[in-house]
Amino acid sequence: MTINFTMSDEQKKLQYEVRAFAENVLKPVVAVADAEPDPLKGFQLTKPAYVEAYKAGIAMCMLPAQYGGGGVSCVDLVIAAEEICVVDPGFACTVLCNGLGLMPVAWYGSEEQKERFLRAATSDPTGEYLGGWTASEPPGNPSGTANFDIPLPRPAGVGLTAVRDGDDFVVNGRKYWPSSAGWDEQGVNSGTLIVRTDSEKGGTEGLSALVLERGTPGVTYRHLDKVGHRLASNAEIVFTDARIPAANLLPGAEANGDLVINRNFAWSGPVAAIAAVGMARAAYEMALEFAHGNTAGAVRPIIGFQNVGYVLGDVASKIEMGRYFSWRAADYLDKHDQHAELVGAMNKIQVTELMFDCVYKCMQIVGVNSLETKNGFGKILREAAVLPIYDGGNMGMQRRRVHGLLADPMFNPRAIMEDDYVKFEKHHEAIDTVVG
Ligand SMILES: Cc1cc2nc3c(=O)[nH]c(=O)nc-3n(C[C@H](O)[C@H](O)[C@H](O)COP(=O)(O)OP(=O)(O)OC[C@H]3O[C@@H](n4cnc5c(N)ncnc54)[C@H](O)[C@@H]3O)c2cc1C
Repeated sequence: MTINFTMSDEQKKLQYEVRAFAENVLKPVVAVADAEPDPLKGFQLTKPAYVEAYKAGIAMCMLPAQYGGGGVSCVDLVIAAEEICVVDPGFACTVLCNGLGLMPVAWYGSEEQKERFLRAATSDPTGEYLGGWTASEPPGNPSGTANFDIPLPRPAGVGLTAVRDGDDFVVNGRKYWPSSAGWDEQGVNSGTLIVRTDSEKGGTEGLSALVLERGTPGVTYRHLDKVGHRLASNAEIVFTDARIPAANLLPGAEANGDLVINRNFAWSGPVAAIAAVGMARAAYEMALEFAHGNTAGAVRPIIGFQNVGYVLGDVASKIEMGRYFSWRAADYLDKHDQHAELVGAMNKIQVTELMFDCVYKCMQIVGVNSLETKNGFGKILREAAVLPIYDGGNMGMQRRRVHGLLADPMFNPRAIMEDDYVKFEKHHEAIDTVVG
């Protein structure tokens, strides 16, 4: 049998255990952390739950088993992620960033770097270890993130420069939005940093990836306040003549930082998509319960109205579609060496946008009472709104990658259906980066 939607006993166990963690350990923290006005304090409130997740093997489950990680498949990661996301996708984002920060080390690092960084990440006795993915840049003119592969020298594209000086790179500039500030605004333990190693070249030649470690002199962090994913940490990071050892350059990523970005934000696509499924699932279950228990002044509960039944039926079907596409995109990653630049993007774009619409449809069914804070739809709406925008925005980065592949005359439109490996290469990049 080659197509099988039945979970194995191990997958059911994983789902059960992660659901128990989310319900029993994470859920009690969510409301108070979400309501905390100070984003650093809010993040710190999640630390005990994070430590439990680390000790239960959840926080580093995606890292290769060879270096002490859980070595779970991408399909298993998505099954587990849904159970955390339905309770709080911001917390799930913290766990996801361990993968975004450290999988590039597994993919592009030397054996020595894998032993040094991945082993440390998976063997922290305190359970507080955090990985960070530091790619995004501040808004402004010039600045931003979406056109990182623009084929023009600075000031276009990535602005954080890394200039080789002896045994170090000297790094200057700013990042904005990454998950890298850590529990105390002194930085996460380690993670991947995208830098401009050649300012004269465009984004397809001039970018590289370094491992940024906690305690690097010349780096400061400040947490950002935001409307959704308040349990996740996001920061402004300023580099002032920061010195990062040249030994932290990921060899496979030298002049290939662009490919790291594209691969990474597609690897995480199914996790973002399943986060959206989790949000729509939460809204749907609440709306269905409301529809069975409220008459809105009519004689019988509103579930008896045709419109209510049709809309909730559509929502339920779309949630199933979103879940199966996410499983399939993860399956594609598992089959193709954790590459899914095309299907990971397609999955993330379509499912996050469809699920946002589902959340809002559920609110329309519940009506005005969905707007009262205590009923919980507002938080779900805030969380669902993040998902099409974060993790490589759907409008710029993700759709551009799909466009770049489809514009290739050699592109096989049946590739995904036939399970072909769609190789994403530099000639697929830079599309739509120059307005006009
Ligand atoms: C909860 C959360 C966690 C995050 N974690 C991380 C992290 O760990 N590491 C990290 O590096 N970043 C992180 N980010 C940032 C996130 O990945 C963003 O997706 C990324 O910064 C790009 O944002 P953007 O697409 O809005 O790009 P911007 O460059 O800010 O572009 C703004 C908008 O301009 C438009 N646009 C720009 N260029 C084009 C184009 N060529 N074609 C069409 N439209 C275009 C799009 O509408 C786009 O959304 C996080 C963000 C959030 C909210």
